[in-house]
Amino acid sequence: MSERRPYLAANWKMQKTVEETEDFLDRFLGEIGELAHADIVICPPFTALAAAVERCRRSPVRVAAQNMHEASSGAYTGEISAPMLTSIGVEAVILGHSERRSLFAETDEALARKLVTAFEAGLQPILCVGESESEREDGVTEDVLRRQLEADFESVSAKDLPEMVIAYEPVWAIGTGKTASPEQAEGAISFIRSVVAERDSRAAAQVRILYGGSVKPGNAEELLGREGIDGALVGGASVEPADFLAICEAA
Ligand code: PEP
Repeated sequence: MSERRPYLAANWKMQKTVEETEDFLDRFLGEIGELAHADIVICPPFTALAAAVERCRRSPVRVAAQNMHEASSGAYTGEISAPMLTSIGVEAVILGHSERRSLFAETDEALARKLVTAFEAGLQPILCVGESESEREDGVTEDVLRRQLEADFESVSAKDLPEMVIAYEPVWAIGTGKTASPEQAEGAISFIRSVVAERDSRAAAQVRILYGGSVKPGNAEELLGREGIDGALVGGASVEPADFLAICEAA
């Protein structure tokens, strides 16, 4: 049995005002009493981060951002830096979500720099990787994962690797209701762990690798019960406290 602690992250994307965030957390935190077995991370939009940190202050739940800029400050209108996030108590950051890669032209080169910046700032990166539908159909899933991981890890040290979290998120399963089968998720995650092991075998044994893509209360147990799947990055099913709680309980 794995000694890696389960990790459940709620990616709210561009949803929830400050008031809605507080309402979610009041309901969610009131129910999570027995969930000390897992790391639970809420990722609200930038405007609700400070409120979420405040609400989670005396709870085991931590708060992550959904993105950040690679520079600490400068002429980058509309961007948010790692020191800005840590200054309000944010502890982690999603990097390389497929929506950032496809809609906002996020490159692996930029992600490699963002990973370094996050580690330097003391933010835990949650790095997303995954193949598109056509890439899976063409049988190149492992090539895509390897290319993303090797490029993103370019400047990450073996010492830092175990501290990060990797989310395997097949693009075709995100927000589509098409979940990867447990076999597909387990296979891809095992491959990701083998790529990490090529850099450092100790880090591969310790790093947490999540599955993300249409995880719901009804399929969470089957996915999270699989060997090597250390938790979930949850989008749509994380905006309702009862649904996200049920997924956390399944881990
Ligand atoms: C996500 O946004 O990372 C995600 C996995 O979304 P969903 O659960 O809605 O597929």
